[in-house]
Amino acid sequence: MCRPVSFSPEGKLQVPVDSPFPSRRPRHSGAVPRIAEESIQRVAETCDIVEVIGSYFPLKRAGTSYRAICPFHKEKSPSFHVNPQRQTFHCFGCGAGGNVFRFVMDYEHIDFPSAVRRLAQRAGVPIVEEAGGPEDDRRADLRKRLLAMHADAAGWFHHHLLKTPSAQVARDYLKSRGINGEIAKSWQLGFAPDSWDALIYFLKEKRYSVEEIAQSGLVSSREDENGEGDGHFYARFRGRVMFPIYSDYGEVIGFSGRVLDAEAKTAKYVNSPETPLFIKGKVLYGLHKTKRALIEAGSAIVCEGQIDLISAYENGVQNVIAPQGTAFTPDQARLLRRFVESVTLCFDSDRAGQEAVTRSLPALLDCGMDVRVARLPSGEDPDSMIRKQGAEAFQSAIGGALNYFDHALERMAESGAMLDPAKITAAARKLGPFVAMISDAVLRESTARKICSRIGITEAAFSSHMKSGPAPQAAPETPSEGAAVRPREMAEGIRMLARLAMASPDIRTWLKGQTTPPLRELGEGGDILEKIVFASQDIENPASRAVFTAQLDASEEATINTLDLDRLPENTAELVRSGWVGLASHSLVAKREATKIRLREAGLGLEEQIRLQGLIAELSKQILDLQSCLSDG
Ligand SMILES: [Zn+2]
Repeated sequence: MCRPVSFSPEGKLQVPVDSPFPSRRPRHSGAVPRIAEESIQRVAETCDIVEVIGSYFPLKRAGTSYRAICPFHKEKSPSFHVNPQRQTFHCFGCGAGGNVFRFVMDYEHIDFPSAVRRLAQRAGVPIVEEAGGPEDDRRADLRKRLLAMHADAAGWFHHHLLKTPSAQVARDYLKSRGINGEIAKSWQLGFAPDSWDALIYFLKEKRYSVEEIAQSGLVSSREDENGEGDGHFYARFRGRVMFPIYSDYGEVIGFSGRVLDAEAKTAKYVNSPETPLFIKGKVLYGLHKTKRALIEAGSAIVCEGQIDLISAYENGVQNVIAPQGTAFTPDQARLLRRFVESVTLCFDSDRAGQEAVTRSLPALLDCGMDVRVARLPSGEDPDSMIRKQGAEAFQSAIGGALNYFDHALERMAESGAMLDPAKITAAARKLGPFVAMISDAVLRESTARKICSRIGITEAAFSSHMKSGPAPQAAPETPSEGAAVRPREMAEGIRMLARLAMASPDIRTWLKGQTTPPLRELGEGGDILEKIVFASQDIENPASRAVFTAQLDASEEATINTLDLDRLPENTAELVRSGWVGLASHSLVAKREATKIRLREAGLGLEEQIRLQGLIAELSKQILDLQSCLSDG
């Protein structure tokens, strides 16, 4: 039904403001669980987008906006624009865009609350955190305490490495691996003294409770013969070189300790156990430092150990990461896929290293990565190779890395297996399932064809191995985080209404009054239009808009971001009215036609027939109302 419309002297629409919709916030996407809206707005107001982006890379003034080479895709001439009036950025090359929070999220690869906190910290704006449920509060508090404890422990280990006489053996060891004091500081390497309880005393002195210490993974408990703890703890890491493990934005969340005594009967490496902070299969060592280099290179060199990674990084090969443990987990592969499209595995050439290659493959292929395998001279690892032959030799070994399948075929040829029918069958059985995991169909087929011609079996025989192997893992239900967020499709007319609604509270108010049919039923993108119209914020203001978009999911935000690029038309009031009437009648007519078709179906009960006829009559009346609304002009 069409509401009465009038125009103010300035030609603005004037409409009744009551809305039949309960005033509600857009569906919460979980993006802002705990930070108060006022704080988000305050941060958005304080952080000028030009200043923030300009602190990451230089921006060039171009008329009223600023330009740069886009950090989100490879390009030669700048198509990345920053608009100071709207406080937004947009790349015409790759479609990246949004407000200051979106920029920090995408550039730093952090989530929304972290981006708000980071900008708040930078601008000196205090953040008000809203209370979640008691369980959320408890978990958040514990996490905060554990993070603080890990930071304290990392500082304590580091101090021991640098200052105490007992750490001489650790200092000597690191020196022998080319790690000087400066590098040790940069990675906050440490030394865990050979003591059962020194760390525990230190943590208690820092006022961490026994419960907190027990959950940190920094201690183990002594167990009696019944398997019940006697309540006594001892330090998990003793007499080891300590490598702090960082989250991808630089908080210490765990440790890896390397034994110093080569003769010791304990494990060479001890890692933190799983804790509320540390889930081993989800962390990549070094990522907090290397992510920029990964994005720039578009590919990652995967080393086995921390020392290899540090050595490569400090010698200028910076697109490196190390999985915690030898093989990639699906979580780690997906995390890495956010940064790169290809990986070069640089594992030891021994049997264990080659098994790690094979075990890493399913996760990596499954998320669409191009997997290469580097071959270092026998007996060398990245660290030893860089120390003996220099970073350039290492780089060229990486450059010569073969695609996994070529690598496997080459190893077969070298071992003489190509001449042995039994080994050829075994190879086909081994490679088939991996080929089946290649997500790109063209690549999958060409790889299969190449293997067939190299090992001399028919494609039909090989394809039976592609099917008979272990089924490739099901694709993750959520789309890969690496996939760029695309704006949603929007019908032309809805797009225009959304654009106008973004720009004017009067138009939002008028559209709120149009209830038949509901905005979300007007066509594709109608749900987004409805969210804009019912926004509780004053969205013409960039800071308030940042609060509004924080409640949307990424594709909705991207859609709204593209609206800003459309030119604002003249004579908006008339456009909104005729635009809405056009969409509304189209939607009602379509609904009436669908109902008529339904009515012609055989076997409908009398009651259903009467209901459908009533519905058709009601829709016809609504369509007439709309037309008279239009002629009222
Ligand atoms: Zn771009």
